[in-house]
Amino acid sequence: MKFFEKLLVANRGEIAIRIMRACRELDIETVAIYSTADKNALHVRYADEAFQVGEAHPSKSYLNMERIIDIVKKSGAEAVHPGYGFLAENANFARLCQEENVTFVGPRWQTIKAMGSKVGSKQLMRDNGVPVVPGTDGGLKSLDEAKKVAAEIGYPVIVKASAGGGGIGMQIVNDEKALEEAILASQRIAQSAFGDATVFIEKYLVKPRHIEFQVFADEHGNAVHLFERECSIQRRHQKLVEEAPSPVMTPELRERMAESALRVAKASNYSNAGTVEFLYSNGNYYFMEMNTRLQVEHTITEFITGIDIVKNQLAVAAGETLPFEQDDLRIRGHAIECRINAEDPLNNFQADPGKIVRYRSPGGPGIRIDSGVHMGYTISPIYDSMISKLCAWDSTRPDVIRRMRRAISEYIIMGVKTTLPLHYAIMNNQQYMEGNTHTHFLQEEHILNTLERYKRDEETRMQTLAGSFDQGKKIAAITAAVNTYIQQKKKS
Ligand code: ADP
Repeated sequence: MKFFEKLLVANRGEIAIRIMRACRELDIETVAIYSTADKNALHVRYADEAFQVGEAHPSKSYLNMERIIDIVKKSGAEAVHPGYGFLAENANFARLCQEENVTFVGPRWQTIKAMGSKVGSKQLMRDNGVPVVPGTDGGLKSLDEAKKVAAEIGYPVIVKASAGGGGIGMQIVNDEKALEEAILASQRIAQSAFGDATVFIEKYLVKPRHIEFQVFADEHGNAVHLFERECSIQRRHQKLVEEAPSPVMTPELRERMAESALRVAKASNYSNAGTVEFLYSNGNYYFMEMNTRLQVEHTITEFITGIDIVKNQLAVAAGETLPFEQDDLRIRGHAIECRINAEDPLNNFQADPGKIVRYRSPGGPGIRIDSGVHMGYTISPIYDSMISKLCAWDSTRPDVIRRMRRAISEYIIMGVKTTLPLHYAIMNNQQYMEGNTHTHFLQEEHILNTLERYKRDEETRMQTLAGSFDQGKKIAAITAAVNTYIQQKKKS
């Protein structure tokens, strides 16, 4: 079924290619946009047509709404898929598309706007009986209010930007003395990053798990969930490893959380694919926010459900009815995604852009790689440092962990530092294997500290770890040392 004749992808990198792949399978022609920095990028070559949208800086290219709409018109595209990031959660862009009679592949602009405010969406959820993290009712009005609420809910608390994303502007506060400064800092960051200085306070949960539900709704009142993903392994409040289903999920908990997630979708008049994020702690779960777009980690949900989320996004955007009901959906096996970034886990995950001088990606049974790079490709410091999403599927969790280790050991990336060795260490970590993860896992498990011990011959080691097929044994040896160290630390 052909939902559109031609679609423009308002994005770059792996996600642009992911969307175009769905289009190619559906015989939809694709239009790419690119900045001057991306002239030779893979997504440009993959598309049927490509237009330069502006200079390298995102504000001059991938965020330039008027220019993108001009290209839509010029190319004759009927629809725009925004991917994730850039304009994906920009209500003004979705509205502009509507005004220009272009289909925006995503929810209605009013929904994006309502859910774009963490303060507003929390309020909406509270009103609809969905549990939320205790905290201020709305945006913070005064320091006195902050002190009062923090004292009521108890320290530690977290100050968050209402318009926030990507963990930006969050401040953890352990006592009243530090409160004022944290609020001012958060407001300052929020104003400069999002143009909105509204901040709020909520209870800082100690060692929660991040569990999110993929929901899907059409424009005819049907809504289903595609089960959950657990994204607890994070650095700087940003996801690094995701898996589906969650190792702590029980049928009873899933039923309750899914019911809440669908209630969120109904309350926001949702249509298309979206994600409802919860924090889970000690048997309780709390709504955190809704992402009104395709997620980076949608791939693992595709693995366990067998559903192509992007194709269904296109169908729903074209006004089709969802082709499945809740009872048609089943979880099949287990999937993990490792985000392979060009960054240095040993240096506070600092980005390490540069040229990839040697590259060979893994393959074989149950492996999926979504990437926009190739040998000789230069990772630009201007955009995010993701090299690829390495995803694995197998019938059980222990099996998929083993499969992921195997895939990592096959992966060759040279020229930049990567998160590969860290992923290997995680996949071999006893606590991870037992499913005992939480959002502070990386700090707690001393994985980073332990990797630090091998810093001496860092460059060689990184190359070795990210190296060639026969390096699997060396990685295993280092990981064994890492685990011994962790065990010793625990005993002492
Ligand atoms: P963003 O939109 O900036 O990504 P989120 O609200 O989605 O921010 O939160 C991202 C991560 O920050 C969570 O997965 C969790 O690790 C941490 N976090 C946010 N709120 C809390 C909280 N109240 N208690 C503990 N951790 C939190």
